[in-house]
Order: sequence, then structure tokens, then C-alpha cells
Amino acid sequence: MNLSKLVLKNFRNYGTKEIDFHPLVNVITGLNAQGKSNLLEAIGYLSTLSSFRGAKDLDMVRWGCPYFFLEGLIKKNTGDYTISLGYNLENKKLLKVNGSARKKFNEVLGILNSVVFSPEDLNIVKLGPAARRKYLDGEMMQLFPTYYFTLMQYQKIIQQRNNLLKEIREKKQQEEMLDIWDEQLGENGAKIIKKRLEVLQKLAPLARLTHRKITEGEEELEITYESVDQEEILKKITWEKIKEILHTMIRENRKNEIIKGVSLFGPHRDDLKLMVNGIDVRKFGSQGQQRTTALSLKMAELELMKSETGEYPILLLDDVMSELDEKRRSHLIAMMGDKIQTFITTTDMAFHFREGQVMKVF
Ligand code: ATP
Ligand code: MG
Repeated sequence: MNLSKLVLKNFRNYGTKEIDFHPLVNVITGLNAQGKSNLLEAIGYLSTLSSFRGAKDLDMVRWGCPYFFLEGLIKKNTGDYTISLGYNLENKKLLKVNGSARKKFNEVLGILNSVVFSPEDLNIVKLGPAARRKYLDGEMMQLFPTYYFTLMQYQKIIQQRNNLLKEIREKKQQEEMLDIWDEQLGENGAKIIKKRLEVLQKLAPLARLTHRKITEGEEELEITYESVDQEEILKKITWEKIKEILHTMIRENRKNEIIKGVSLFGPHRDDLKLMVNGIDVRKFGSQGQQRTTALSLKMAELELMKSETGEYPILLLDDVMSELDEKRRSHLIAMMGDKIQTFITTTDMAFHFREGQVMKVF
């Protein structure tokens, strides 16, 4: 797939801008603070309806303006799509596909698939479990728009359950009130865990293969899902069994959860364990091993999208080239090859690409 045209209005530092893109390589150069990352952020927004930098919608409206508007023309195997998105300061969002309004996010997610590489990818390996959950969930939301819906529902359940736990601790509510929330947590939590396990079964071998290639056979990367009672969960992959395991855990630990006032068990606490040649790369890996692992994880994301949708997503590289050493960079460029539309921001033009266009932002 590719994004052939983008219109921006009042998005970040852009007034009105229309850009036609090259179907393969688009290099976005310019000095610092010119709007290179903002442009990538706008493209990413069309894909995921959120900022890959974690910014709020409000912060992306050009200062002093009442709204922002983005429109992209996407060419896919299944046809052409125009996505139009508006957001105004009253927190109203307008979503349109091919001119007709869409109410739900998940009707737009998955039309333009994208993978972002940025220097922060190292955080997937280095930071706590939340960073790895975000990595996996981000990929899954694009591939399975209903997963987004389940995840949002689950987050609400956890929030309300946590409030209730605190109220029970303060004797403002009865303990029995938890039963209904335990049921909800079990149902939705098991859906999420089951789907994550399914995806990981495909993603892990892809990451292992990529990692082997980048390290020229020196390193084996193994990814496992870490959850409550992990061994049981990994063995019994049916939704009912996972639900049962979650229920048992929360029933047995009810007192503890009330004391702490938070939900301690469920997919919001799970993690991915990353092992390289048998060692936990997060704790004991060298900087280089951690970087390679992060790159393998991201490259596996591209391959998974290709195998699930039949098309490569677009690739957004924000300041990433200068972060990679020669070997890793050449693996990335080889992978992009002549099949993945890529947007690269850089302040210098030290990199040479076979075919493509250099676009000056200003
Ligand atoms: P660098 O090379 O340093 O990464 P960049 O070209 O990627 O620079 P951007 O991150 O795209 O720079 O930011 C460009 C400018 O946009 C910044 O100076 C920033 O202050 C400005 N900016 C950010 N948000 C808004 C906004 N809501 N309205 C107007 N300008 C904004
Ligand atoms: Mg930037």
C-alpha cells in the first residue's frame, strides 16, 4: 500500500499544505524544528488516529487555530481510499472514508497500516512491561480493529474496578459489589490474552528469523508471553480456560487487591520476555544486543502485517538512520527494498538511496 497524497491544515506548525508522495522512498530533510517529525506524525495519525509521540489531539492543533484537518489518499490492492480527519478545540472529531462519515474509530483503523521506527524503540527492550504491551497492542490494533474496542473496554473495567477496590477499602462499598467486575475482568481479560498469544505465535518466529539475519546467525531471539500463572495460560489457550485462571487468581487474592486498591491480575499487568541466546536481554544484554532486538521486533511487525493483510504497511523512520550502525542500517534498507513505501526524516543527506525523492519540508 502507499500514501500518494496528504493534505494538512493547521496541523502543528503547518498552515495549509498539500504533498504528493513518491510510491517508494520519501526523504524529508530540513534543519531542526522545521516540521519533519510533525509531518510523520500527521501520516501516522491517519493510520492509527493517535500520535506516535504520545501527544494529545489538542496539542496537535496549530497554535491560535480552532481545528486541524488531515486528508490522505491511500492506494491499496483492494482499491483507493480517502481518509479525512478533523479535530476541533471542542474536542469533536470528524472521520470520513471516501467522503462518507464514520462514527467509530475501528472503522478507520486498519485502512492505512504503518510501522514507525524511532530512536525510542530501544525503550521496548529497556523499559518496563508497559512499553512491551504498547508495542504488541499497537500492532494488534491496526491488524484487528475489534481488538482496539476490547482493549478500550477492558481499560474502563480496570479503572472502575480500581475505584471500587478503594471504596471497599474505605468501607464505602460492600465487597460483594466486586463480583460483577470480576466477571467482566475475566471475560475481557481472557479475550485480550488469547488474542495476544495467537499473534505472538506468528510474531515470535518472524522476530527470531530477522534477528538471526541481522546477527548473521550468532544470536537466537526468543519471545514469550508472561502472565499470571504463565505455564497454565500458555498450555490452555482456550478463552474459557484463560478466563477460569484469571478468576481463580482474583478470587484467591481479593483481600490483597482491596488492601492495595488496584487490580493486580490481568493483561494490563502482562509482559513479553525477551531472551537472546538464553539470557534476558533487558537485564543483561549489551547496548548493541538491545538495539538489534528492538530492530528485530519492529521488522517482525512489518512482516506480520504483510502476512496478515497481503500488503506491506508504510514505514515511518523518524531520525532513525543516524542511530543505526552501518550493518543494521543496511539490513533495514535491504528490507525496505523496492516494496515498502518509506518516509525518512533526517537533518543531513549522508544516506544514499537507490531510487526516491528528496523532499524539502520548507
Ligand atoms: P528536529 O530535526 O529537531 O527533529 P523537526 O523538523 O522534526 O526537528 P518538529 O518536531 O516537526 O521538528 O517540530 C517543528 C516545530 O513545530 C517546533 O518548533 C515546534 O515548536 C512546532 N510546533 C509543535 N506543536 C505545534 C503546534 N501545535 N502549533 C504550532 N507549532 C507547533
Ligand atoms: Mg524531528
